[in-house]
Amino acid sequence: MTHGLNEKLMMGYAAGTLPEAFELVVASHIALNEDSRAGVHAHEAIGGALLEEQTPAELSEGALEATLALLDKPITEKQMSPRLAEPTAKAVFPPALQAYVGGDADAVQWQSIGGGIKQAILPTQGEATARLLYIPAGQAVPDHGHRGTELTLVLQGAFADEVDRFGRGDLEIADEDLDHKPIAEAGEPCICLAATDAPLRFNELIPRMLQPIFKI
Ligand code: ZN
Repeated sequence: MTHGLNEKLMMGYAAGTLPEAFELVVASHIALNEDSRAGVHAHEAIGGALLEEQTPAELSEGALEATLALLDKPITEKQMSPRLAEPTAKAVFPPALQAYVGGDADAVQWQSIGGGIKQAILPTQGEATARLLYIPAGQAVPDHGHRGTELTLVLQGAFADEVDRFGRGDLEIADEDLDHKPIAEAGEPCICLAATDAPLRFNELIPRMLQPIFKI
């Protein structure tokens, strides 16, 4: 799958070991991509089977009753995990992302970063960072390489780079080996959710100078 998850991301997501920013991208991606969703379910099932093989730990007296009592309580909408929820028909953002933004695409507080491109950094913990990117139709993102892993999920419109074309729901996984210059397709602005675990390596002077300001 060149537009979906790799094995490492599926395993990490199923095990809950991904940095928060990556977890957000994966949760948003699997809401839009059936193959990746099925892959994650399969890994979660494997994880569950492995847990069952572990030697059971002694439980305190009353633990079983307390757990069963919890199951009887009705689940409120807030408690439902957005991880595997599917998006409503008209929303641009999947539920997992909406929880971070406080709404859909129209609720984003954009910051201009030049060339008509805008970003919104999302509040995630840990080493990796997550941001929304708004790229006007036909506009290019400055040519860059990667010092770590970059996940880019398309939510609206499409972009093309040296690898392929990526449309809504498609995920591009870039690493140290890839240098690319994504260009938004003509027609409508491209909105992406991107996460990185290391700063990008811009190949042109001006983006490189602006980099610390935009924390990209
Ligand atoms: Zn990149």
